[in-house]
Amino acid sequence: MEEVQSMDSTYCEDVEMSSFETDCEISDQSSEELDNASTDSEIDIDSFSSDMDKPLYDGCPINKSEHLTAVLAFITRHSCNQRMTTDLLHLIRLHCPTENSCEKTWDGLSSKSQKLLDLRTDHTLHDVCSECGILFPEDCSIVSCPTAHCTGLRYKGTLEDQMFRRRHSFIATTSLEDEIRLVLENIGPGVWDIILDYKREQSSSSTINDICHGMCYKETQNSLTGSAVTLLFNTDGVLLYKSSSTNVWPIFAVINELPPSIR
Ligand SMILES: [Zn+2]
Repeated sequence: MEEVQSMDSTYCEDVEMSSFETDCEISDQSSEELDNASTDSEIDIDSFSSDMDKPLYDGCPINKSEHLTAVLAFITRHSCNQRMTTDLLHLIRLHCPTENSCEKTWDGLSSKSQKLLDLRTDHTLHDVCSECGILFPEDCSIVSCPTAHCTGLRYKGTLEDQMFRRRHSFIATTSLEDEIRLVLENIGPGVWDIILDYKREQSSSSTINDICHGMCYKETQNSLTGSAVTLLFNTDGVLLYKSSSTNVWPIFAVINELPPSIR
């Protein structure tokens, strides 16, 4: 588990959330909200964190953070563009009480998603050369790509602009072990019984309707200890900006030993 530290990693290219486009046709964002968005970055990260812990509306079983995460997972899985995402946000709001904290705009979704990533204090950013794809050395004073004949720079802009250290392309990594622990704790105290029940069920199944019924999975299980879990990784690119090459590649992982209904 310690060897793989990239669960929930995100490859970001040219990410600058503050410059997110706001020209969505069906956006209902008022000028006042846009003004607020421009100063959003100044909001203390602690107050943002506590705000994200509040329920989406009174009595709602999920909080704002879970709402944002679920929307992001959906638009990534189904490769939603800006229009589709805005329609989805509108649809969600239609099904909630009038007083709610649902995200309203593509713009807000983007900026808050970036802050959610920042909340993960244990995540690490690794600069990547956008020309040749290699990782830059940890020493951030090295701004020119070390690959022979590559002209890539670590930060945005020209060689003179490197002093401003505006991130260009990077990979965000976090602890795989912590992420698995968080998922299992969120499910609740009976999670291990659920896993054991599902393992027993799949081991006696003669049909294949899940990864756990496959021969490769069963062979892998034989070499693992009783408390081991396995992961299935997925990734897909999301074009964040309507008219630029900016994109994010979230990496999702599911625990195979959990029944599909609660993965
Ligand atoms: Zn390079």
